[in-house]
Amino acid sequence: MAAEERFVSPAETVDDAEVERSLRPRTLADFPGQPRIRQNLAIAIEAAKKRGDALDHMLLYGPPGLGKTTLANIVAHEMDVAVRTTSGPAIERPGDLAAILTNLKQHDILFIDEIHRLSRVVEEILYPAMEDYALDLMIGKGPGARSVRLAMPKFTLIGATTRYAMVSAPLRDRFGSVYRLEFYDEQTLTVIVRRSARILGMTVPDEAANEVARRSRGTPRIANRILRRVRDFAEVRGNGVVTLEGTRAALALLDIDDLGLDDTDRSVLRCIIEKFGGGPVGLETIAASISEEADTIMDVYEPFLLQCGFLQRTPRGRMATASAYRHLGLPVPGRLDAQRALWELEESDETE
Ligand code: ADP
Repeated sequence: MAAEERFVSPAETVDDAEVERSLRPRTLADFPGQPRIRQNLAIAIEAAKKRGDALDHMLLYGPPGLGKTTLANIVAHEMDVAVRTTSGPAIERPGDLAAILTNLKQHDILFIDEIHRLSRVVEEILYPAMEDYALDLMIGKGPGARSVRLAMPKFTLIGATTRYAMVSAPLRDRFGSVYRLEFYDEQTLTVIVRRSARILGMTVPDEAANEVARRSRGTPRIANRILRRVRDFAEVRGNGVVTLEGTRAALALLDIDDLGLDDTDRSVLRCIIEKFGGGPVGLETIAASISEEADTIMDVYEPFLLQCGFLQRTPRGRMATASAYRHLGLPVPGRLDAQRALWELEESDETE
């Protein structure tokens, strides 16, 4: 099954798109979580408004479903400007980007999702636009070709990426601020679940809201998706009444375990433990052996497994931790600590 179709996948699906729009917070005050980013944005927005200026370009990065697109829209709303949304892979040629840029109005926001996937030639159009609000266009071909510079309105670029390391250094350097989105804690997710339930017109008891929050992989998009399945379950099996038992039963049907891990999360861990003796093993090898895209494992699955402390990233590949063995109900091999100590010793030898 492709990652997009899978339930726990934080990637957006078609079915999600519409409901998500209605669940998306529109103002900073209505956006729970990410306190550091919220505070910084509130100050930047107020200052820019006072000066009557555009906001600095900003880069948002972190796993999918944590609110990057939502924040870009909130910023536009708070600044009272229009937002134009596109994505790295959608801009194929420099001309495509030039057309988008020339259509922006003063202080508008251009949101580019998956900005790490812009091609180099397209990126080069972006540099003078970001720095000098200018478009450098080539007129003509061959030896007679010349470059003309067109002025464009001052705008704000908001870039989003799941892969900070893949954003080129010259592009990274041109952002005035860079924010990393963190996974949400259970308490904040509970607030989000309650808010979504209210919008969806559901009555959800506190313990059921907590249960959804606890098993959503720290990700609002997943929390919202589970909540909707809980609603389906209640409608079909519970006369429309949401209960803790019903919520647990819905989660069991979805194969989401006690910590929110799904089938693929468990396959990644099981693969490292059962096929590769606990690791270290390269990500590509894991991907091939569970028939999954390496990029999907890296963007979607690995960040949460690292966060849970089930996976360790080492220069030699990924290792399963003792907690991963325990979570899967497998005996923790005594050699695990010894192996790691040995490996750390070797590492320090290599660096000496
Ligand atoms: P990203 O762009 O990082 O993949 P989105 O901004 O598209 O994530 O968020 C996915 C969905 O999760 C949104 O539609 C919204 O409903 C919900 N969401 C994200 N962050 C929050 C938040 N802090 N509070 C409430 N809902 C949120």
